[in-house]
Amino acid sequence: MPHNDTPRVPVGLRGCGSRSCSLRSRAARATASLGSASEPDNTPPGLAPKRVGGGQYDPAMLVITDERFLDHDTGYRHPERPDRLRAALAGVADVDTELLAGGRSPRRAERDELELVHSAAMIDRVSAIAEHGGGHLDADTAMGPASFDAARLAAGAVLSAVEQLAAGTESSGPARGDSEAYCLVRPPGHHATPSTSMGFCLFNSVAVAAALLAADGQRVAIVDVDAHHGNGTQDVFWDRDDVLYASIHQYPLYPGTGALGERGAGAGEGCTVNVPLPPGATGNTARAALDEVIVPAVERFAPDWMLISAGYDGHRADPLTGLGYSASDYGDFVRRLMALAPRTVAVLEGGYDLDATRASSYAVAGALLGLDLHPEPASGAGPGMEVVEAAARLSALDGNR
Ligand SMILES: [Zn+2]
Repeated sequence: MPHNDTPRVPVGLRGCGSRSCSLRSRAARATASLGSASEPDNTPPGLAPKRVGGGQYDPAMLVITDERFLDHDTGYRHPERPDRLRAALAGVADVDTELLAGGRSPRRAERDELELVHSAAMIDRVSAIAEHGGGHLDADTAMGPASFDAARLAAGAVLSAVEQLAAGTESSGPARGDSEAYCLVRPPGHHATPSTSMGFCLFNSVAVAAALLAADGQRVAIVDVDAHHGNGTQDVFWDRDDVLYASIHQYPLYPGTGALGERGAGAGEGCTVNVPLPPGATGNTARAALDEVIVPAVERFAPDWMLISAGYDGHRADPLTGLGYSASDYGDFVRRLMALAPRTVAVLEGGYDLDATRASSYAVAGALLGLDLHPEPASGAGPGMEVVEAAARLSALDGNR
């Protein structure tokens, strides 16, 4: 039976329309112990890390992570490996080691919370495979004995972020930088559908948090900048009008979904937005997709929360995909998105080149803190603008309704 390892904080509150909402809780933060990650080696070329503080920003961004994510064992030479998390954490430490020192551990998602999104049979299957020492959920998706717990913690991390940011808005005391959180988790989640774990994903962490927020009457925008389409997240909210799902991804690519014409159904028509970019597309095209398609759609939707599926496999160095982003592009994406809602939670999804993941995580952590960090130049000149223009025409139809 699942147990609650930290006190629950009510999610329910509205009316905090200002980015100055506060989570003045640094003093109360528990110390996270991911020592190996906070002492990184192999600094990526071009990174100019370390203390950027000195009064330039309020280092109060909430970081949620846990060393138990490293126990999710996918087997020998699997690309979704613990070093990915270490790399993403190293990127945060490159901004400021204090961010990790002040990080918090997540609670576990409860079974009834997972069941807001996933079938009982799917949850039982993951649990049973863990109890039997691990195995494969599909050809790509492996798990070990600790993976069920890690997946519950990954979903719980987003819930913890939401709860702690919401609680911070109650405790008041305006201060910039308290309305953003960064969840550094494994396994990733955005491919997990209501009934199926797939694509390295066990449970859909972002979708669970969005579903819980929506059940509380909150409006949630999820923007997915992973190179792969988040088919699982799309499936969960396909016919709903209380959660907007928007994705910029390579197409065609695994899992094969995310075409321009996939726009939701019924009440949810227009609340799914896909911008399927061709291989080789670069940051300028993705920025145009945000500026011309996704930002206007999110503004019309007027969310209370922005949840970002932050997968770094769109980086040009990634071995699994063919997009051409740079690490700095990811910072640009997050800066645009966090301006669209009072509170933002970024959640690690994919990213399989360690140096690219570290540098991208560095840029994203900086963006969440209000810093404009450029570990490498922005990318440009790739293909795909015609897709952005087509998506903008479709989106304009929604705007005219
Ligand atoms: Zn991916």
